[in-house]
Amino acid sequence: MCPACIATAAWIAAGTTSAGAFFGIVLKDLPRRGRRKPARAYEPAPPDPDRASHSRAKTTELRCLCGAIQIQLSGKPTEQFYCHCDDCQATHGAAYTGVAVYPAAAVKVSEGEPATWTLTRLPRSRCAGCGTHLFAQVPSLGVCAVSANLLPVGEFRPQFHQQCRYAVLPVQDDLPHFASFPPQFGGTDERVEW
Ligand SMILES: [Zn+2]
Ligand SMILES: [Zn+2]
Repeated sequence: MCPACIATAAWIAAGTTSAGAFFGIVLKDLPRRGRRKPARAYEPAPPDPDRASHSRAKTTELRCLCGAIQIQLSGKPTEQFYCHCDDCQATHGAAYTGVAVYPAAAVKVSEGEPATWTLTRLPRSRCAGCGTHLFAQVPSLGVCAVSANLLPVGEFRPQFHQQCRYAVLPVQDDLPHFASFPPQFGGTDERVEW
């Protein structure tokens, strides 16, 4: 590149003027027949909401009650529901529990070290200090079932009840009440009448 071109490139790069204005000046001195039509103004493509949500997955941070454990969730849960199974009853000391399912890779412990033990087949993790149940891993499906009560207010949006055959307390609402697992978890469409 000759020194003049280097100087011109530096001039444009420095933002002294736009490239369009620069070429405008050059074209003024060309014979009329040799002029090219000016390029159309640059119009950015409209944002693609889907693409944006994939490339910049929302991160949600959860903490146990004492604050020793922090968990980071990437993106949104794939399923949200209430589980009435006897394992959830035993683990949580409750009649049923809210669950938000995430891909296993979307759940990371970012602070502290949860205590993990296995009840029946699922490794379950809680805080050793305050006892907060954090999540259960489901290795066969490659997912993590996060305790929905830890989600920010308003982010738990349950879609159904499952394992209602174990229920100790009927819950009257408009959601489907599956007797066992719903079809998307390999179960059936059998419901209970509440
Ligand atoms: Zn804790
Ligand atoms: Zn359960």
